[in-house]
Amino acid sequence: MTRSITILGATGSIGASTLDLIRRNPAEWRVDTLTANRSAKDLAKLALEFGAKLAVVGDESCLPELKQALSGSAVDAAGGKQALCDAASRPVDMTVAAIVGCAGLGPVMTAVERGGTIALANKEALVSAGEVLISAATRNGATLLPTDSEHNAIFQCLAGNDLAEVSRITLTASGGPLRTWSLDKLRAATPEQAVAHPNWSMGAKISVDSATMMNKGLEFIEAHHLFPVGLDRLGIVVHPQSVIHSMVEYRDRSTLAQLGPSDMRVPIASCLAWPKRMETPLEPLDLASIGELSFFNPDEERFPATRIAREAIEAGGAAPATLNAANEIAVGAFLDGQIGFMAITAVVEETLSAYSAPAPASLDEVLAVDEEARNRASQSLESNALV
Ligand code: NDP
Repeated sequence: MTRSITILGATGSIGASTLDLIRRNPAEWRVDTLTANRSAKDLAKLALEFGAKLAVVGDESCLPELKQALSGSAVDAAGGKQALCDAASRPVDMTVAAIVGCAGLGPVMTAVERGGTIALANKEALVSAGEVLISAATRNGATLLPTDSEHNAIFQCLAGNDLAEVSRITLTASGGPLRTWSLDKLRAATPEQAVAHPNWSMGAKISVDSATMMNKGLEFIEAHHLFPVGLDRLGIVVHPQSVIHSMVEYRDRSTLAQLGPSDMRVPIASCLAWPKRMETPLEPLDLASIGELSFFNPDEERFPATRIAREAIEAGGAAPATLNAANEIAVGAFLDGQIGFMAITAVVEETLSAYSAPAPASLDEVLAVDEEARNRASQSLESNALV
């Protein structure tokens, strides 16, 4: 039976991987809505190829370009933040949440309030709005399918088992492209070096997050909300080959791990087909040719992000939303050449120590914290600026 699907963030890396799977299974999917921020031409091309009903650009100033590119077609066009939320409120069988950053939170919340089934890649939404998002999902009967490869691995390893049986959940981390660099070398790392991930092909923001290990910090917070076993039962191990995507140890000391190629089409396929399975175009895993799997403890002196994230979730309140907002500002400034690589986590830490607020209890309160934290982080960029 054909199922309807909306992809929020269709022009990005996760969007492309999702559409690749849909392109290979055209009889199974009917694309309802595709969204982007400013890539109007690319979005129009995809909307026409997949016969979408609606295409939406988040940046309203790009709407004329989108309309022009879609003129004469049956695809409706819309633009602006509210239009993204309106798109997410349309009834579909599956919503893929793949906008990058807290910008995706409003549409994700709308899809959750509709009680939909959401393949959630947009980790920043969950980090910023953890309790608010999870309680809205419970209240509205929404299904959150973890799409991040680690959380999808944990979801598969849990296989419906009771969390009370779990003694430990271990997130694996590749360590990123700068894993073996000295502190001195890290200080001089360029955006080009930071985004050159050895195993995964991803958007620029998450690639920098991987290099700083903030990606693992965000994932630690994400895992805490998705699989609430307690912070003392959540761990991180560096595993440079990215073959094991995460592990669940049960109280009898049995550990289940999920292995697979480092390609996001595997966890995305797991969400699209859930609770069944579907084919992907990937080669089978060849363990003999991989040869060895290695594991290390994270080095939190060179990569303090995992410590900062752990402290933020332990502190609770507005700290996780503050951490996320400050990180988005700092990563943007690093990519623009305003600050150095080690300054990313310095800006996050400074922002967290300068600003605290009670735990946000609604979407509006999360967005207010996010805005204030962005302002504070922007001020902290000045004292960390490259000279
Ligand atoms: P990309 O940067 O490749 O794509 C982001 C998408 O979001 C694009 O469609 C972009 O549109 C859109 N977008 C960006 N800013 C806004 C905005 N302000 N309003 C509306 N839409 C916006 O990111 P990725 O695909 O790499 O990542 C998407 C999410 O998935 C992130 O949260 C990331 O952490 C998560 N994730 C990604 C993985 C990966 O392998 N890439 C793995 C696991 C999780 P436009 O093209 O117009 O800019």
